[in-house]
Amino acid sequence: MPAYSSRHETIRVIIDMPPHTQYPKRPVQAGIRVNFPFDPSEDPGMSDHAKPSDVTREQAEAAVRTLLRWAGDDPAREGLLDTPKRVVKAYSDWFSGYDSDPAEFLLRTFEEVAGYDQMVVLRDIQFESHCEHHLAPIIGRAHVGYMPTNRVVGISKLARVVDGFARRLQVQEKLTAQIAQCIQETLQPAGVAVVIDASHQCMTTRGVHKRGVSMVTSQMLGSFRHDARTRTEFLQFIGIQGGHR
Ligand SMILES: [Zn+2]
Repeated sequence: MPAYSSRHETIRVIIDMPPHTQYPKRPVQAGIRVNFPFDPSEDPGMSDHAKPSDVTREQAEAAVRTLLRWAGDDPAREGLLDTPKRVVKAYSDWFSGYDSDPAEFLLRTFEEVAGYDQMVVLRDIQFESHCEHHLAPIIGRAHVGYMPTNRVVGISKLARVVDGFARRLQVQEKLTAQIAQCIQETLQPAGVAVVIDASHQCMTTRGVHKRGVSMVTSQMLGSFRHDARTRTEFLQFIGIQGGHR
């Protein structure tokens, strides 16, 4: 199934890509279209809660043994005996985002902020995710900003939102849009900005084998989208000017 083209509404995602962050395997251009808003019924990555799984732990471990055989090894040899169990356990950690509703992290807000109505930015939020095409790690950093109207959240909550979406199978563009959309819908600030800078191990360890390449995506909503000064201020806060860091 094509990653982006099959669904309904689309918006433009601004992709900031300095020349050194070319992504030759799957070229990304400014103006790429992704689905927005994502329809939870079509995308388990946006569902409110984990879907009841009809897969048992035993079946999951058997599937790992199959992959070990496929790789050319013997799942019955001593060093691999506990591997299926470990992999299944690791999956519970890597994909724990399906058990969370990131919007819930934003429900507790603080209103006594003495009229503070300027930008709030949390930068360098490290995250680990997995690409939905190869199950390979995506390692990167997210920078999140919003322009509060009358409520702010504890800043750790923004990092939790990032993790809630990162700990699912992802495409970086989708991850970026989901974080921004979640904050916009839940907090209803004047605007939201999300920039993600990440490297994709499906690209560094296989395929074109290009190391040291990172991909930068950004999603700007509200005042960050419409007001160039606000956007520039945010990019200065996170240390990206003219697309370079
Ligand atoms: Zn991949």
